[in-house]
Amino acid sequence: MIQNKKIVVLGMARSGTAISKFLANYNNTIIISDIKEQEESLLKEMQEQNIRVVITSKQEDLIDETIDLIIKNPAIQKDHIALQKARDLNIPIINEMEASFSFLPKDVQIIGITGSNGKTTTTTLTYELLKYGPHRVFLGGNIGIPLASLVPEIKSKDLLVLEISDHQLLDLYDFKTHISVLTNLSPVHIDFHGTYEHYKETKKKIFNHHTEEDIAIVNAENQDVLHLIQDIPSKKIYFSSKNQADIYLKDNKIIYQGEEIISTNDILLQGNHNYENCMAAIVIAKQYGITNDQIKEFLSTFSGVEHRLEYVCTKNERSFYNDSKATNNESTIIALDSFKKDTILIMGGLDRNIPFDSLKEHLNHVTCILSYGETKHKINALANECGISSLVVDTLEQATKKAYEISKEGDVILFSPACASWDQFKDFEERGRVFKEIVNEL
Ligand code: ADP
Repeated sequence: MIQNKKIVVLGMARSGTAISKFLANYNNTIIISDIKEQEESLLKEMQEQNIRVVITSKQEDLIDETIDLIIKNPAIQKDHIALQKARDLNIPIINEMEASFSFLPKDVQIIGITGSNGKTTTTTLTYELLKYGPHRVFLGGNIGIPLASLVPEIKSKDLLVLEISDHQLLDLYDFKTHISVLTNLSPVHIDFHGTYEHYKETKKKIFNHHTEEDIAIVNAENQDVLHLIQDIPSKKIYFSSKNQADIYLKDNKIIYQGEEIISTNDILLQGNHNYENCMAAIVIAKQYGITNDQIKEFLSTFSGVEHRLEYVCTKNERSFYNDSKATNNESTIIALDSFKKDTILIMGGLDRNIPFDSLKEHLNHVTCILSYGETKHKINALANECGISSLVVDTLEQATKKAYEISKEGDVILFSPACASWDQFKDFEERGRVFKEIVNEL
Protein backbone atom coordinates (compact mmCIF):
# COMPACT_ATOMS: atom_id res chain seq x y z
CA MET A 1 0.00 0.00 0.00
CA ILE A 2 1.28 3.45 -0.93
CA GLN A 3 0.32 6.33 1.37
CA ASN A 4 1.68 9.63 2.72
CA LYS A 5 4.21 9.76 -0.12
CA LYS A 6 5.32 12.38 -2.58
CA ILE A 7 4.98 10.83 -6.01
CA VAL A 8 5.86 11.87 -9.55
CA VAL A 9 3.74 10.16 -12.22
CA LEU A 10 5.36 10.31 -15.65
CA GLY A 11 2.91 10.12 -18.55
CA MET A 12 -0.71 11.26 -18.61
CA ALA A 13 -2.16 8.38 -20.61
CA ARG A 14 -5.03 6.31 -19.18
CA SER A 15 -2.87 4.39 -16.69
CA GLY A 16 -1.08 7.50 -15.34
CA THR A 17 -4.26 9.44 -14.71
CA ALA A 18 -6.04 6.40 -13.22
CA ILE A 19 -3.28 5.68 -10.69
CA SER A 20 -2.97 9.38 -9.80
CA LYS A 21 -6.68 9.62 -9.03
CA PHE A 22 -6.56 6.41 -7.03
CA LEU A 23 -3.48 7.32 -4.98
CA ALA A 24 -4.78 10.81 -4.28
CA ASN A 25 -7.28 9.12 -1.93
CA TYR A 26 -4.43 7.83 0.26
CA ASN A 27 -2.97 11.13 1.40
CA ASN A 28 -0.26 11.10 -1.26
CA THR A 29 1.08 14.30 -2.83
CA ILE A 30 0.98 13.73 -6.57
CA ILE A 31 2.62 15.53 -9.45
CA ILE A 32 1.66 14.16 -12.86
CA SER A 33 3.60 15.21 -15.93
CA ASP A 34 3.51 14.86 -19.68
CA ILE A 35 5.33 16.45 -22.58
CA LYS A 36 2.08 16.94 -24.54
CA GLU A 37 -0.66 19.49 -23.81
CA GLN A 38 -3.74 17.80 -22.32
CA GLU A 39 -7.51 18.26 -22.67
CA GLU A 40 -9.01 20.93 -20.43
CA SER A 41 -11.50 18.44 -18.91
CA LEU A 42 -8.67 16.17 -17.77
CA LEU A 43 -6.75 19.06 -16.24
CA LYS A 44 -9.88 20.04 -14.32
CA GLU A 45 -10.39 16.50 -13.10
CA MET A 46 -6.82 16.38 -11.79
CA GLN A 47 -7.16 19.76 -10.14
CA GLU A 48 -10.32 18.65 -8.31
CA GLN A 49 -8.29 15.95 -6.61
CA ASN A 50 -5.39 18.25 -5.78
CA ILE A 51 -3.14 16.54 -8.32
CA ARG A 52 -0.56 18.94 -9.73
CA VAL A 53 -0.16 18.75 -13.50
CA VAL A 54 3.12 19.84 -15.10
CA ILE A 55 3.39 19.89 -18.89
CA THR A 56 7.10 20.03 -19.68
CA SER A 57 9.77 18.46 -21.83
CA LYS A 58 12.18 18.72 -18.87
CA GLN A 59 10.61 16.19 -16.53
CA GLU A 60 13.96 15.70 -14.82
CA ASP A 61 13.40 19.08 -13.18
CA LEU A 62 10.54 17.51 -11.19
CA ILE A 63 12.82 14.94 -9.61
CA ASP A 64 14.72 15.77 -6.41
CA GLU A 65 15.46 14.17 -3.04
CA THR A 66 11.99 15.09 -1.69
CA ILE A 67 10.34 12.58 -4.10
CA ASP A 68 9.57 9.14 -2.61
CA LEU A 69 8.38 7.27 -5.68
CA ILE A 70 8.22 7.49 -9.48
CA ILE A 71 5.36 5.84 -11.39
CA LYS A 72 6.24 5.74 -15.06
CA ASN A 73 4.21 5.06 -18.16
CA PRO A 74 5.33 1.70 -19.63
CA ALA A 75 6.30 3.28 -22.97
CA ILE A 76 8.94 5.59 -21.45
CA GLN A 77 12.44 4.30 -22.22
CA LYS A 78 14.44 3.26 -19.18
CA ASP A 79 17.31 5.61 -20.10
CA HIS A 80 15.02 8.66 -20.04
CA ILE A 81 16.96 11.42 -18.31
CA ALA A 82 14.32 11.84 -15.56
CA LEU A 83 14.56 8.13 -14.72
CA GLN A 84 18.36 8.27 -14.67
CA LYS A 85 18.17 11.12 -12.20
CA ALA A 86 15.69 9.16 -10.04
CA ARG A 87 18.04 6.17 -10.03
CA ASP A 88 20.95 8.38 -8.98
CA LEU A 89 18.84 9.58 -6.06
CA ASN A 90 17.76 5.99 -5.19
CA ILE A 91 14.11 6.77 -5.79
CA PRO A 92 12.13 3.60 -6.60
CA ILE A 93 10.61 3.47 -10.10
CA ILE A 94 7.50 1.33 -10.66
CA ASN A 95 4.49 1.41 -12.97
CA GLU A 96 0.76 1.67 -12.53
CA MET A 97 0.21 -2.10 -12.42
CA GLU A 98 2.78 -2.63 -9.66
CA ALA A 99 1.39 0.28 -7.64
CA SER A 100 -2.18 -1.02 -8.01
CA PHE A 101 -1.17 -4.57 -7.10
CA SER A 102 -0.05 -3.45 -3.65
CA PHE A 103 -3.67 -2.53 -2.85
CA LEU A 104 -5.31 -5.81 -3.88
CA PRO A 105 -6.76 -8.20 -1.30
CA LYS A 106 -4.30 -11.08 -0.88
CA ASP A 107 -6.74 -13.80 -1.92
CA VAL A 108 -7.62 -12.33 -5.30
CA GLN A 109 -6.73 -14.82 -8.05
CA ILE A 110 -4.67 -13.13 -10.75
CA ILE A 111 -4.41 -14.50 -14.27
CA GLY A 112 -1.73 -12.77 -16.35
CA ILE A 113 -1.45 -13.18 -20.11
CA THR A 114 1.53 -12.16 -22.18
CA GLY A 115 3.33 -13.15 -25.39
CA SER A 116 4.44 -11.56 -28.64
CA ASN A 117 1.06 -12.24 -30.31
CA GLY A 118 -2.39 -13.26 -29.18
CA LYS A 119 -2.49 -11.41 -25.86
CA THR A 120 -5.70 -9.48 -26.39
CA THR A 121 -7.54 -12.43 -27.94
CA THR A 122 -6.49 -14.89 -25.22
CA THR A 123 -7.25 -12.38 -22.46
CA THR A 124 -10.72 -11.71 -23.88
CA LEU A 125 -11.48 -15.41 -24.34
CA THR A 126 -10.39 -16.14 -20.78
CA TYR A 127 -12.43 -13.34 -19.27
CA GLU A 128 -15.56 -14.27 -21.20
CA LEU A 129 -15.28 -17.96 -20.32
CA LEU A 130 -14.69 -17.28 -16.62
CA LYS A 131 -17.87 -15.22 -16.50
CA TYR A 132 -19.80 -18.51 -16.80
CA GLY A 133 -18.44 -19.54 -13.38
CA PRO A 134 -19.43 -18.53 -9.86
CA HIS A 135 -16.70 -15.91 -9.28
CA ARG A 136 -16.81 -12.21 -9.98
CA VAL A 137 -14.36 -11.60 -12.84
CA PHE A 138 -12.53 -8.42 -13.83
CA LEU A 139 -10.72 -7.62 -17.08
CA GLY A 140 -7.84 -5.15 -17.29
CA GLY A 141 -4.23 -4.28 -18.03
CA ASN A 142 -2.79 -3.62 -21.46
CA ILE A 143 -6.21 -4.23 -22.99
CA GLY A 144 -7.00 -0.58 -22.22
CA ILE A 145 -8.42 -0.81 -18.69
CA PRO A 146 -5.87 0.27 -16.06
CA LEU A 147 -5.77 -2.00 -13.02
CA ALA A 148 -5.94 1.16 -10.87
CA SER A 149 -9.45 1.83 -12.15
CA LEU A 150 -10.58 -1.66 -11.05
CA VAL A 151 -8.95 -1.86 -7.61
CA PRO A 152 -11.71 -0.05 -5.68
CA GLU A 153 -14.22 -2.67 -6.94
CA ILE A 154 -12.17 -5.79 -6.32
CA LYS A 155 -12.94 -7.94 -3.29
CA SER A 156 -11.56 -11.15 -1.79
CA LYS A 157 -11.83 -14.23 -3.99
CA ASP A 158 -12.53 -12.24 -7.17
CA LEU A 159 -10.77 -13.27 -10.37
CA LEU A 160 -8.67 -10.77 -12.24
CA VAL A 161 -7.71 -11.38 -15.88
CA LEU A 162 -4.88 -9.09 -17.00
CA GLU A 163 -3.27 -8.61 -20.39
CA ILE A 164 0.35 -7.68 -19.64
CA SER A 165 2.78 -6.28 -22.21
CA ASP A 166 6.56 -6.56 -22.09
CA HIS A 167 6.70 -2.82 -21.42
CA GLN A 168 4.55 -3.36 -18.33
CA LEU A 169 6.48 -6.41 -17.16
CA LEU A 170 9.69 -4.39 -17.13
CA ASP A 171 8.71 -2.40 -14.04
CA LEU A 172 6.90 -5.13 -12.07
CA TYR A 173 8.65 -6.34 -8.92
CA ASP A 174 6.33 -7.69 -6.19
CA PHE A 175 3.51 -8.33 -8.66
CA LYS A 176 2.60 -12.01 -8.88
CA THR A 177 0.03 -14.04 -10.75
CA HIS A 178 -1.49 -17.43 -9.89
CA ILE A 179 -1.85 -18.43 -13.51
CA SER A 180 0.36 -17.06 -16.27
CA VAL A 181 0.08 -17.61 -20.00
CA LEU A 182 3.00 -17.12 -22.41
CA THR A 183 1.35 -17.44 -25.82
CA ASN A 184 4.54 -17.33 -27.93
CA LEU A 185 7.81 -15.43 -28.40
CA SER A 186 9.26 -13.79 -31.49
CA PRO A 187 11.73 -10.93 -31.91
CA VAL A 188 9.57 -7.81 -31.60
CA HIS A 189 10.06 -4.48 -29.79
CA ILE A 190 13.83 -4.84 -30.11
CA ASP A 191 14.12 -1.06 -30.55
CA PHE A 192 12.74 -0.71 -27.00
CA HIS A 193 14.67 -3.55 -25.39
CA GLY A 194 17.98 -3.33 -27.23
CA THR A 195 18.29 -7.10 -27.67
CA TYR A 196 15.98 -10.11 -28.11
CA GLU A 197 17.61 -11.58 -24.98
CA HIS A 198 16.45 -8.62 -22.92
CA TYR A 199 12.95 -8.86 -24.39
CA LYS A 200 12.74 -12.57 -23.50
CA GLU A 201 14.07 -12.06 -19.95
CA THR A 202 11.47 -9.32 -19.50
CA LYS A 203 8.71 -11.68 -20.65
CA LYS A 204 9.91 -14.23 -18.10
CA LYS A 205 8.78 -11.86 -15.34
CA ILE A 206 5.21 -13.05 -16.01
CA PHE A 207 6.26 -16.06 -13.84
CA ASN A 208 7.83 -13.94 -11.05
CA HIS A 209 7.47 -15.37 -7.53
CA HIS A 210 5.73 -18.50 -8.86
CA THR A 211 5.90 -21.63 -6.71
CA GLU A 212 4.84 -25.21 -7.51
CA GLU A 213 1.31 -24.10 -6.58
CA ASP A 214 1.10 -21.67 -9.50
CA ILE A 215 0.38 -22.53 -13.11
CA ALA A 216 2.29 -21.64 -16.29
CA ILE A 217 0.38 -22.25 -19.53
CA VAL A 218 2.82 -22.23 -22.44
CA ASN A 219 3.20 -22.90 -26.13
CA ALA A 220 4.79 -26.31 -26.65
CA GLU A 221 5.86 -25.49 -30.22
CA ASN A 222 7.87 -22.36 -29.51
CA GLN A 223 11.54 -23.16 -28.78
CA ASP A 224 12.24 -19.76 -27.25
CA VAL A 225 9.33 -20.25 -24.84
CA LEU A 226 10.51 -23.75 -23.89
CA HIS A 227 14.03 -22.50 -23.30
CA LEU A 228 12.86 -19.56 -21.23
CA ILE A 229 10.69 -21.55 -18.81
CA GLN A 230 13.18 -24.37 -18.16
CA ASP A 231 13.96 -23.29 -14.61
CA ILE A 232 10.66 -21.85 -13.39
CA PRO A 233 9.04 -23.84 -10.53
CA SER A 234 5.43 -23.42 -11.73
CA LYS A 235 3.23 -26.36 -12.70
CA LYS A 236 3.53 -26.30 -16.48
CA ILE A 237 0.64 -26.99 -18.84
CA TYR A 238 1.57 -27.14 -22.53
CA PHE A 239 -0.68 -26.39 -25.51
CA SER A 240 -0.03 -27.27 -29.13
CA SER A 241 -1.92 -27.06 -32.41
CA LYS A 242 0.58 -29.44 -34.04
CA ASN A 243 1.57 -32.27 -31.70
CA GLN A 244 0.29 -34.11 -28.68
CA ALA A 245 0.51 -32.02 -25.50
CA ASP A 246 -1.51 -31.46 -22.32
CA ILE A 247 -4.05 -29.71 -24.53
CA TYR A 248 -3.80 -30.14 -28.28
CA LEU A 249 -5.52 -30.36 -31.62
CA LYS A 250 -6.25 -33.81 -33.02
CA ASP A 251 -8.49 -34.50 -36.02
CA ASN A 252 -10.03 -31.03 -35.67
CA LYS A 253 -10.82 -31.58 -32.01
CA ILE A 254 -9.36 -29.91 -28.93
CA ILE A 255 -8.31 -32.62 -26.48
CA TYR A 256 -7.46 -31.74 -22.86
CA GLN A 257 -6.13 -34.43 -20.53
CA GLY A 258 -7.53 -37.12 -22.83
CA GLU A 259 -11.01 -35.62 -23.00
CA GLU A 260 -12.57 -34.04 -26.09
CA ILE A 261 -13.56 -30.49 -25.21
CA ILE A 262 -14.81 -29.07 -28.52
CA SER A 263 -14.54 -29.60 -32.27
CA THR A 264 -13.01 -26.74 -34.24
CA ASN A 265 -16.15 -26.89 -36.41
CA ASP A 266 -17.95 -25.48 -33.38
CA ILE A 267 -15.47 -22.61 -32.98
CA LEU A 268 -16.30 -19.45 -34.90
CA LEU A 269 -12.72 -18.13 -34.69
CA GLN A 270 -10.54 -19.26 -37.57
CA GLY A 271 -6.94 -20.41 -37.77
CA ASN A 272 -4.55 -22.52 -35.74
CA HIS A 273 -3.24 -19.42 -33.99
CA ASN A 274 -6.74 -18.77 -32.67
CA TYR A 275 -7.18 -22.42 -31.64
CA GLU A 276 -3.99 -21.96 -29.62
CA ASN A 277 -5.49 -18.89 -27.96
CA CYS A 278 -8.65 -20.93 -27.26
CA MET A 279 -6.62 -23.77 -25.74
CA ALA A 280 -4.86 -21.46 -23.29
CA ALA A 281 -8.21 -19.96 -22.29
CA ILE A 282 -9.84 -23.41 -21.97
CA VAL A 283 -7.12 -24.59 -19.57
CA ILE A 284 -7.86 -21.60 -17.35
CA ALA A 285 -11.62 -22.04 -17.63
CA LYS A 286 -11.24 -25.67 -16.58
CA GLN A 287 -9.33 -24.63 -13.42
CA TYR A 288 -12.45 -22.75 -12.36
CA GLY A 289 -15.02 -25.42 -13.18
CA ILE A 290 -16.38 -24.08 -16.47
CA THR A 291 -18.13 -26.97 -18.25
CA ASN A 292 -17.60 -28.20 -21.80
CA ASP A 293 -21.14 -27.12 -22.69
CA GLN A 294 -20.40 -23.60 -21.49
CA ILE A 295 -17.15 -23.55 -23.46
CA LYS A 296 -19.05 -24.69 -26.56
CA GLU A 297 -21.83 -22.19 -26.04
CA PHE A 298 -19.33 -19.35 -25.93
CA LEU A 299 -16.83 -20.38 -28.61
CA SER A 300 -19.56 -21.20 -31.13
CA THR A 301 -20.76 -17.58 -31.03
CA PHE A 302 -17.66 -15.50 -30.27
CA SER A 303 -16.72 -13.70 -33.49
CA GLY A 304 -13.31 -12.54 -32.29
CA VAL A 305 -11.84 -9.40 -30.84
CA GLU A 306 -12.70 -6.44 -33.04
CA HIS A 307 -10.42 -6.01 -36.10
CA ARG A 308 -8.42 -9.21 -35.43
CA LEU A 309 -9.63 -11.65 -38.06
CA GLU A 310 -13.10 -10.74 -36.82
CA TYR A 311 -15.99 -12.55 -38.45
CA VAL A 312 -18.36 -9.86 -39.73
CA CYS A 313 -21.24 -11.73 -41.38
CA THR A 314 -22.23 -14.05 -44.21
CA LYS A 315 -24.11 -12.52 -47.13
CA ASN A 316 -25.44 -14.72 -49.91
CA GLU A 317 -23.05 -17.50 -48.84
CA ARG A 318 -20.00 -15.16 -48.83
CA SER A 319 -18.25 -14.82 -45.43
CA PHE A 320 -16.65 -11.48 -44.59
CA TYR A 321 -13.70 -11.08 -42.17
CA ASN A 322 -12.29 -7.82 -40.82
CA ASP A 323 -8.55 -8.08 -40.04
CA SER A 324 -7.82 -4.34 -40.02
CA LYS A 325 -5.27 -4.84 -37.19
CA ALA A 326 -3.03 -6.61 -39.75
CA THR A 327 -0.67 -3.75 -40.52
CA ASN A 328 2.24 -5.89 -41.71
CA ASN A 329 2.94 -8.97 -43.84
CA GLU A 330 3.31 -11.32 -40.84
CA SER A 331 -0.24 -10.68 -39.64
CA THR A 332 -1.72 -11.00 -43.12
CA ILE A 333 0.11 -14.32 -43.57
CA ILE A 334 -1.51 -15.60 -40.36
CA ALA A 335 -4.91 -14.52 -41.67
CA LEU A 336 -4.34 -16.12 -45.10
CA ASP A 337 -3.22 -19.38 -43.50
CA SER A 338 -6.42 -19.47 -41.45
CA PHE A 339 -8.57 -20.29 -44.51
CA LYS A 340 -8.58 -23.16 -46.97
CA LYS A 341 -11.61 -21.96 -48.96
CA ASP A 342 -11.36 -19.72 -52.05
CA THR A 343 -10.53 -16.27 -50.75
CA ILE A 344 -10.81 -12.78 -52.19
CA LEU A 345 -8.21 -10.60 -50.48
CA ILE A 346 -8.56 -6.85 -49.97
CA MET A 347 -5.24 -5.15 -49.21
CA GLY A 348 -3.53 -1.77 -49.20
CA GLY A 349 -2.71 1.36 -47.23
CA LEU A 350 0.30 3.42 -46.22
CA ASP A 351 3.48 2.74 -48.21
CA ARG A 352 6.41 2.04 -45.89
CA ASN A 353 8.54 0.70 -48.72
CA ILE A 354 8.36 -2.85 -47.38
CA PRO A 355 8.13 -5.50 -50.12
CA PHE A 356 5.15 -7.89 -50.12
CA ASP A 357 7.21 -10.88 -51.32
CA SER A 358 6.77 -12.89 -48.11
CA LEU A 359 3.04 -13.23 -48.89
CA LYS A 360 3.70 -15.17 -52.09
CA GLU A 361 3.72 -18.65 -50.58
CA HIS A 362 0.44 -18.05 -48.77
CA LEU A 363 -1.74 -17.06 -51.70
CA ASN A 364 -2.59 -20.50 -53.16
CA HIS A 365 -6.29 -20.25 -52.30
CA VAL A 366 -6.57 -16.54 -53.20
CA THR A 367 -8.63 -16.12 -56.38
CA CYS A 368 -8.38 -12.33 -56.65
CA ILE A 369 -6.59 -9.47 -54.89
CA LEU A 370 -8.23 -6.08 -54.66
CA SER A 371 -5.84 -3.30 -53.79
CA TYR A 372 -6.32 0.35 -52.84
CA GLY A 373 -4.33 3.13 -51.13
CA GLU A 374 -0.68 4.14 -51.51
CA THR A 375 0.54 0.56 -52.00
CA LYS A 376 -2.00 -0.48 -54.64
CA HIS A 377 0.43 -0.66 -57.58
CA LYS A 378 2.98 -2.70 -55.61
CA ILE A 379 0.25 -5.13 -54.60
CA ASN A 380 -0.94 -5.32 -58.21
CA ALA A 381 2.62 -6.21 -59.27
CA LEU A 382 2.73 -8.98 -56.67
CA ALA A 383 -0.58 -10.43 -57.90
CA ASN A 384 0.64 -10.33 -61.50
CA GLU A 385 3.86 -12.07 -60.51
CA CYS A 386 1.87 -14.84 -58.82
CA GLY A 387 -0.61 -15.16 -61.71
CA ILE A 388 -3.52 -14.12 -59.49
CA SER A 389 -6.26 -11.94 -60.92
CA SER A 390 -5.97 -8.39 -59.60
CA LEU A 391 -8.09 -5.24 -59.47
CA VAL A 392 -6.75 -1.82 -58.50
CA VAL A 393 -9.14 0.77 -57.06
CA ASP A 394 -8.82 3.97 -55.02
CA THR A 395 -10.74 3.34 -51.84
CA LEU A 396 -11.67 0.60 -49.39
CA GLU A 397 -15.31 1.15 -50.27
CA GLN A 398 -14.70 0.51 -53.99
CA ALA A 399 -12.58 -2.55 -53.12
CA THR A 400 -15.23 -4.05 -50.85
CA LYS A 401 -18.08 -3.49 -53.30
CA LYS A 402 -16.02 -4.90 -56.17
CA ALA A 403 -15.01 -7.94 -54.08
CA TYR A 404 -18.66 -8.74 -53.40
CA GLU A 405 -19.55 -8.24 -57.06
CA ILE A 406 -16.98 -10.72 -58.35
CA SER A 407 -17.36 -13.27 -55.53
CA LYS A 408 -19.14 -16.61 -55.76
CA GLU A 409 -21.03 -18.70 -53.22
CA GLY A 410 -18.76 -20.17 -50.53
CA ASP A 411 -16.03 -17.53 -50.91
CA VAL A 412 -14.24 -15.88 -48.02
CA ILE A 413 -13.85 -12.11 -48.47
CA LEU A 414 -10.90 -11.17 -46.30
CA PHE A 415 -9.86 -7.61 -45.50
CA SER A 416 -6.31 -8.02 -44.22
CA PRO A 417 -4.48 -4.92 -45.44
CA ALA A 418 -0.82 -5.74 -44.54
CA CYS A 419 -0.31 -1.97 -44.35
CA ALA A 420 -0.86 0.81 -41.83
CA SER A 421 -4.05 2.80 -42.26
CA TRP A 422 -2.82 6.38 -42.07
CA ASP A 423 -2.91 7.19 -45.78
CA GLN A 424 -6.73 7.22 -45.68
CA PHE A 425 -7.84 6.60 -42.06
CA LYS A 426 -7.18 7.89 -38.53
CA ASP A 427 -6.16 4.45 -37.28
CA PHE A 428 -6.78 0.73 -37.87
CA GLU A 429 -9.87 0.85 -35.67
CA GLU A 430 -11.55 3.48 -37.84
CA ARG A 431 -10.53 1.54 -40.97
CA GLY A 432 -12.05 -1.68 -39.61
CA ARG A 433 -15.28 0.04 -38.60
CA VAL A 434 -15.60 1.59 -42.07
CA PHE A 435 -15.10 -1.85 -43.64
CA LYS A 436 -17.84 -3.36 -41.48
CA GLU A 437 -20.22 -0.52 -42.30
CA ILE A 438 -19.65 -1.00 -46.02
CA VAL A 439 -20.20 -4.76 -45.68
CA ASN A 440 -23.38 -4.31 -43.68
CA GLU A 441 -24.76 -1.96 -46.32
CA LEU A 442 -24.03 -4.27 -49.26
P1 ADP B 1 -1.68 -8.90 -29.21
O1 ADP B 1 -2.61 -8.39 -28.15
O2 ADP B 1 -0.57 -9.74 -28.65
O3 ADP B 1 -1.22 -7.85 -30.18
P2 ADP B 1 -4.03 -9.92 -30.61
O4 ADP B 1 -4.83 -10.95 -29.90
O5 ADP B 1 -4.52 -8.52 -30.60
O6 ADP B 1 -2.53 -9.97 -30.08
O7 ADP B 1 -3.83 -10.39 -32.11
C1 ADP B 1 -3.16 -9.53 -33.02
C2 ADP B 1 -2.75 -10.31 -34.25
O8 ADP B 1 -1.75 -11.26 -33.88
C3 ADP B 1 -3.87 -11.14 -34.87
O9 ADP B 1 -4.62 -10.40 -35.79
C4 ADP B 1 -3.10 -12.25 -35.52
O10 ADP B 1 -2.58 -11.79 -36.74
C5 ADP B 1 -1.92 -12.48 -34.58
N1 ADP B 1 -2.13 -13.55 -33.58
C6 ADP B 1 -3.13 -13.66 -32.68
N2 ADP B 1 -2.98 -14.75 -31.92
C7 ADP B 1 -1.83 -15.33 -32.30
C8 ADP B 1 -1.11 -16.50 -31.90
N3 ADP B 1 -1.53 -17.28 -30.91
N4 ADP B 1 0.03 -16.79 -32.55
C9 ADP B 1 0.48 -16.02 -33.54
N5 ADP B 1 -0.15 -14.92 -33.98
C10 ADP B 1 -1.29 -14.57 -33.38
